[in-house]
Amino acid sequence: MNLYALISATIVLAISLFSLPLLNNYWFNSTPPTPLTADLILRNGVIFTSDVSLPFADSMAVQNGRILRVGNYSALQEFAGDGTKILNLDGKVVVPGFIDSHVHLIPGGLQMAQVELRGVNHKDEFVRRVEEAVRNSKEGSWVLGGGWNNDLWGGELPVASWIDDITPHNPVWLSRMDGHMGLANSVALQLAQITNLSQDPTGGTIMKTSDGEPTGLLIDAAIKFILPWIPEVSVDERREALLRASKFALTRGVTTVVDFGRYFPGASVQLSWEDFSDVYQWAVLSAEMRIRVCLFFPLETWSSLADLIKKTSRALSSWVYLGGVKAFADGSLGSNSALFHEPYVDEPHNYGLQVMETESLFNMTMASDKSGLQVAIHAIGDRANDLVLDIYKSVATTGMRDRRFRIEHAQHLAPGAAVRFGDQGIVASMQPLHLLDDADSAIKKLGMDRAEKESYLFRSLLASNAQLALGSDWPVVDINPLHDIRIAMKRIPPGWDKAWIQSERISLADALIATYMEVTFLALIGDVFEIFHLEMNTFSMAGTRSQRLMHAFLKMIWDHYHQGNWQILSYCPRIRGRTLLLKGRHLSRQHMSQVYRPILESKKCSSKRYNSVLNKEQVHY
Ligand SMILES: [Zn+2]
Repeated sequence: MNLYALISATIVLAISLFSLPLLNNYWFNSTPPTPLTADLILRNGVIFTSDVSLPFADSMAVQNGRILRVGNYSALQEFAGDGTKILNLDGKVVVPGFIDSHVHLIPGGLQMAQVELRGVNHKDEFVRRVEEAVRNSKEGSWVLGGGWNNDLWGGELPVASWIDDITPHNPVWLSRMDGHMGLANSVALQLAQITNLSQDPTGGTIMKTSDGEPTGLLIDAAIKFILPWIPEVSVDERREALLRASKFALTRGVTTVVDFGRYFPGASVQLSWEDFSDVYQWAVLSAEMRIRVCLFFPLETWSSLADLIKKTSRALSSWVYLGGVKAFADGSLGSNSALFHEPYVDEPHNYGLQVMETESLFNMTMASDKSGLQVAIHAIGDRANDLVLDIYKSVATTGMRDRRFRIEHAQHLAPGAAVRFGDQGIVASMQPLHLLDDADSAIKKLGMDRAEKESYLFRSLLASNAQLALGSDWPVVDINPLHDIRIAMKRIPPGWDKAWIQSERISLADALIATYMEVTFLALIGDVFEIFHLEMNTFSMAGTRSQRLMHAFLKMIWDHYHQGNWQILSYCPRIRGRTLLLKGRHLSRQHMSQVYRPILESKKCSSKRYNSVLNKEQVHY
């Protein structure tokens, strides 16, 4: 026997031994696999598979909320059985659910049941809506609402006297759309004992007239003077709010959100925890969750979150993930409380407000990071962004790790800051819809030059290799991913005929990636995330033909969307049952498109809840 034969024989033997358990398994345990029967087969649709080799399919077989296979109708026949429902889609489009990287779910649901002032563009209409709400309220009960934006009626700030006459017996609190400012009527001011003698708290302002009388407007930390007087919303109201909000998100195609809850400057840090135990845990236990949420808690409470994760792990269920912690570095542009290096043009002595002191922000970020928590910090002004970038940089000197630090909003960036996002691997969590509201006011408040150089630098951030995660900030603005994508691409504010800062527009593919995929990756949702988001990336980068197809496909979505044909097909979002372990890796986009390959067959899903149903609601835009 020569050496060659000996080696060959050894290899064959080794392979045989290695294979033995598999063969045994086959020989002795060989019940043939039971044929899979679909509950539902969708046919005659335009189904986006996010699979490069088959980007679109006309049919899809679903079992127990999981996709068994996509392909031609004939290729799915093997899944058809006695109980299989066949649904003809008549050419309708089916896409994976959208992910919104920044919402406040319960406040959104609560706001849906309050005075709606969003979009109001005239003082008279503002007053009329309050009047109507008062008419429907009991004497003495609080009238709550929000969403107003004074820029829509020319900029004049509302004052208590606008509504005092029509609200003599009801305290009223109406928060501005950004949540950083609110209007109290005189009854509410009296209740809260806010008078001409009241001092501004640190990080907040009680707006006063030239005579020193409170106007009714409270900014940032001053809001805490009024909140304790507003009766707590009941547990039932909050539960209903979650259900209402989730249902609404689904009608907009959003199936997953990163939820920053009821935590705002001036609000108690306990609210997020009450919502967690009263609402989210209840919703999981009673199978009421309709969308997946990744929850963030106040930074001050990082140790409670770290303890909880030790006990339960990050995934409370397939619906609720414990995401990380959030803090506020500054206020908002609309309330002149975003923190800038240069003063506001319309208030030459005002640089904005720093909401939390640098030292506590740093210490708590450090402690959270050491406990393995993801940190997200709200920063709107250029100085606030630099401050947070500095903090993240110092914390990161403790060693290389997959941190995915986030800056929420990242709206105005000083020269060089966009590059720092890329260099430091910071996630820019941005909301294109804010751009529409801010375009005019940024020019007014910062001056043309500053506004043009530093606002919503989507393209600069991407060019510096920063991770961009798009979201809505609902209920601050509407939840509507298709609009977000379009605004990120076009940047045309209402009443404008051209883009605001043309050079910062981004491509469809980039906007889609930021909306669909990176959010999931960046939200650190446990160790699990859905490959179809990655495939979207692979697909969109796969060459001109695919890009053409993608554009045609998007056009089709737009058409359906504008015709009001947008229906939500709910299915288990862990499409085709694939999950990936990603913890501890930091992958570039290119990396991801190389590493992951689509797999067509599915595994069964343990989730029984996400039965595949065509949602009854049809949304008309
Ligand atoms: Zn927010």
